Amino acid sequence: MQESPISDQQALPASGQYNRRPSVQQRYPPANQAVAKRTISQLMALLLAVVIFLVDVLTSIKGGIAVLYVVVILIAGRTVRRSGVTLTATGCMALTVAAYLPQHGLFQDDSALLRASVSLAAIVTSTALTLRNQAAAERLTEQAHLLDLTHDSIFVRDLSDIVTFWNRGAEELYGWSRDEAVGRYVHALLRTVFPVDLEAIQAELIRTGRWEGELVQTVCSGRTVTVESRWALRRDTRGEPVSVLETNTDISERKRAHAALVESERRYRTIFDTTRVSILQQDWMPVKAALDALANETADLEAYLADHPDFVARMRRSVTIVDVNAMTRSLIGASVKAQALGTLDDLLREDEPTFLKSLLALARGETFFEGETQIRALTGASVPILFGITFPEHAEEFGCVLVFAVDITERKEAQEVLLAVQAELAHAARVSTLGELTASIAHEVNQPLAAIVTSGEAALRWLRRPVPDLEEAEDAVTRVVQNGTRASEIVARIRTFLTKAPPRPDWLDLTEMIDEAIVLIEREILRHGVVLRREFEAGLPPVCGDRVQLQQVVINLMVNAVQAMAETHDRPRLLVVRAQAQGAGEGAGKGEAVRVSVSDSGPGLAPEARARVFQPFFTTKNEGMGMGLAICRTSVEAHGGRLWASEQPGPGAAFHFTVPVSAERVG
Ligand code: ADP
Repeated sequence: MQESPISDQQALPASGQYNRRPSVQQRYPPANQAVAKRTISQLMALLLAVVIFLVDVLTSIKGGIAVLYVVVILIAGRTVRRSGVTLTATGCMALTVAAYLPQHGLFQDDSALLRASVSLAAIVTSTALTLRNQAAAERLTEQAHLLDLTHDSIFVRDLSDIVTFWNRGAEELYGWSRDEAVGRYVHALLRTVFPVDLEAIQAELIRTGRWEGELVQTVCSGRTVTVESRWALRRDTRGEPVSVLETNTDISERKRAHAALVESERRYRTIFDTTRVSILQQDWMPVKAALDALANETADLEAYLADHPDFVARMRRSVTIVDVNAMTRSLIGASVKAQALGTLDDLLREDEPTFLKSLLALARGETFFEGETQIRALTGASVPILFGITFPEHAEEFGCVLVFAVDITERKEAQEVLLAVQAELAHAARVSTLGELTASIAHEVNQPLAAIVTSGEAALRWLRRPVPDLEEAEDAVTRVVQNGTRASEIVARIRTFLTKAPPRPDWLDLTEMIDEAIVLIEREILRHGVVLRREFEAGLPPVCGDRVQLQQVVINLMVNAVQAMAETHDRPRLLVVRAQAQGAGEGAGKGEAVRVSVSDSGPGLAPEARARVFQPFFTTKNEGMGMGLAICRTSVEAHGGRLWASEQPGPGAAFHFTVPVSAERVG
């Protein structure tokens, strides 16, 4: 842009005058002022007519005084409308005749008759001209009004760029009234800054008759505005240029909005390019259209999608990745952006479950979906990610769906280490529980071993007889085999209990599992003089779970109970193990469950201990580890159940856990 080199060729007003906004009164004079002016003119015309008549009647001037009625008509032409002019003309002609007839009679004085005729002809001619003039002026005013209706500012300037017409729009935009602007050198008035040299613009205007471009101008208040300017050259009938019509539209606001948009886009770009979060811009237009169409035809969209994996796969192929940021490129190992662009199908493995879930979220009208999944890097490696999809509100915006993703490889690794440590701890706790049970286990294994030895010796005795008693020997050997099998079963059970095997879900009968656990600690129970009561509800449904983990829970609870009753001497040491069905909403989470309770008649839990017994390393025992209940709780929760301690009506403590009947997955 360059500043207009032109200085004001007209005498410029003092700069202060630019800032003087014309008062409303100046721009639009009140109607009663104009009415007063008109009335005065009409009175003057009436007075003039009376004077002319009196002079005509009372004096003997032979000069055709009645011609002066033309002046009366001219005044009327400026102050009254068509009918008023005609009425005035009729009156003037009547006065001319009224003055003539009494003095000269009809056809008595030829020269007087001629003068009167000339006067009447003058009155008729001037009336006709006045009426035509009035009609033309009205037409012009109407056209000027039309120009005032437009919101654009329109002005006309002559070839020296002096304003000759200034519409209402120009008054509104620039703040100068028509009277102030007309006669002024326009480029100085508006301090116009042209995009190119003014001479070049004028040359184009002369050559083509038009020019269009953006101008920066300064309005009356000193504010600068940007206008979209259209110039048209008007030529006269001989083709000579006479004036320029300039139409300007204020686009300052549009410019500002555009600048704001550019700035916002720049900010978005900066975030997009530099953030440590992966951003993928995806086109979900085909998915949105297909889901909308489907929603009209299918009542149960969820069921439809579950039954039509081909449709889901087609949808995944139809999502295109339009743009990715640098972080995404490094996430999938793309050296250039083009390698990262493609369809969603390139990124996800075939049976990837979260895409289906995101479709359902979209179908439900949700605007945000997040999940955890694995994407395929270009190297073929799987990268675990946490992602969020923001769905737009309007269908037409689905061409730009933003997906944010974070690489959670490290978090996953940390989680795996944590699980491994937890498994180690669980193992350690099991070993320590077993350490406490050694006597009991030794007894368990010793019993069949002793029986084997006794039965073996008996068999030998029967065989060494002079007449061997084969039947007795066979019985003894059968007992050897039975006890050998029992011993190996016990060893196998202990081995299973001690292994660090990962959770193995299986359908189990909890009562059977509890009985097996009881066998393992039977000796311990007897040693402490504890009476065991089993209360199992008949017909309990099987649950799905890890046998060893759940057995560990029951053993832990029972060993704790037995140990707690070691100091109980004033009442029977009673250990009750209950298994019963539990309905929905009874603390088992959702649906049905089997509830196992282990209660004792020991000292019970102190209130402060009740809150802490499930915390790792909380123990009140000298040799205790304090991990038993913490691990039990983790195991039960991994089965979708709960483990808690409750108040007892009598003395002692009670622990309960639930395993949902519908649980399908463990660990
Ligand atoms: P540990 O047996 O190694 O102490 P646990 O986590 O199994 O670890 O138990 C934590 C604590 O909870 C025990 O030290 C004991 O104070 C308390 N506790 C557990 N069961 C009972 C019970 N049946 N009666 C009283 N206190 C108990």
